[in-house]
Amino acid sequence: MNNTKVKINKLLNETNCEHNQIKLQDNKKVSCKKPPQPGAAQGNCPFEGAMVALVPITDAAHLVHGPVACTRNPWGSRGSLSSGSKLHQIGFTTDLSENDVIFGGEQKLYQAILDIAQRYNPAAVFVYSTCVTALIGDDMDTICQAAAKKIGIPVIYINAPGFLGSKNLGNRIAGEALLEHVVGTAEPEMITPFDINIIGEYNVAGEIWNVLPLLKRLGIRVLSKITGDARYQEICYAHRAKLNVVICSNVSLGMAQKIKERYGIPYIEESFYGVENMNRCLRNIAATLGDFYLQERTEWLIAEETAALDIALAPYRSRLKGKRVVLYSGGVKSWSIILAARDLGMEVIATSDRKSTKEEKAKIKQLLGQDGIVLSKGSPSALLQVLENTKADMLIAGGSNQYTALKARIPFLDINHERHHAYAGYAGMLEMAQELYEALYSPVWKQVRKPAPWDEKN
Ligand code: SF4
Repeated sequence: MNNTKVKINKLLNETNCEHNQIKLQDNKKVSCKKPPQPGAAQGNCPFEGAMVALVPITDAAHLVHGPVACTRNPWGSRGSLSSGSKLHQIGFTTDLSENDVIFGGEQKLYQAILDIAQRYNPAAVFVYSTCVTALIGDDMDTICQAAAKKIGIPVIYINAPGFLGSKNLGNRIAGEALLEHVVGTAEPEMITPFDINIIGEYNVAGEIWNVLPLLKRLGIRVLSKITGDARYQEICYAHRAKLNVVICSNVSLGMAQKIKERYGIPYIEESFYGVENMNRCLRNIAATLGDFYLQERTEWLIAEETAALDIALAPYRSRLKGKRVVLYSGGVKSWSIILAARDLGMEVIATSDRKSTKEEKAKIKQLLGQDGIVLSKGSPSALLQVLENTKADMLIAGGSNQYTALKARIPFLDINHERHHAYAGYAGMLEMAQELYEALYSPVWKQVRKPAPWDEKN
């Protein structure tokens, strides 16, 4: 994928930017550009963004052309699980040395692709550029094309070096590459009136496995999972679905919009977290597919699932009721977990609106109410302050914030991509309730909140 300046500028266009007030004739807002800021690549660069979006394609090999240190950055940091091939878990790299920087790494890359094809027989090879290989000017596009010809397997060049901007941009470049090189390149054996794609769900901790059986029971077929637990071939079929269900809007909305323009497939933005969101998601899928009997089946399934869940959740609800939570996450989770917490009788008193679209920010404000606190930045000191001011009972956030919670001596639940528990769907709701209960009622809190022996009065 050759990224010209024009292409990158287009991907940087933030159609949902709230500061953008310029309107076109049809009253649509003109996109406003979001150029990279200093430090945008710190910790999570576009290369990492592209990898986390594509690595869940489990039967493909993911080869990093660059220094070995870049490979560590995204590899294994997101627990995207596979129900089949585990090839995606192998970290391939050309491991560039000083010599390669001086004389070029093209030959090494070519050999690496051939070697991977021979030893692992992948469905495709995704080749990622990094800062170093982009700066030394390796012609990766040509090498990938030549290697693809030689091995007879698609070799897709992902041009998202770290210096381009943020992780989010990398997610979009990955989506663009799928649109350009994968979607529409093969035809499914058959199509049904109830074929859908799920976009922006990465099967972290196996979450999609909580949702797929529900859709199957309704007679809905997931044609392409983009990209959680996906096989390369199924993404080729994405153009034949009747509906796209977008889960992570911030990174996937652009892709859904382009599929709509190109293939006329409508999309809806949904969440799998919490009972209310899950119910709404199933109802919206059934309504958009437009079949009366499907809608009827959906209502039966919702009634059955929610009744069973109410019984299972009852003991947890009574212990979690009234607990006050500070939530620090991003995108879809920053509003959908508010609803999930509400389902359990808990109250979210503060949340962040990072990486959220304009619509998601509006949802957050509405769900939090007047007294709710919206955190735009979440430095450890700012979070500690909020935890103290609000007298929160627990912090729900990403793994990097667990030490903030420990400092505040309050329980913590990991909600981001390093988590090991699946919280999506009805089964995920029960799992979340169990995890919240165990975190909140762990006997350790009694111990750590005790004054230190040397502080105790004699
Ligand atoms: S691609 Fe660049 S910013 Fe990203 S990990 Fe490698 S060196 Fe760092």
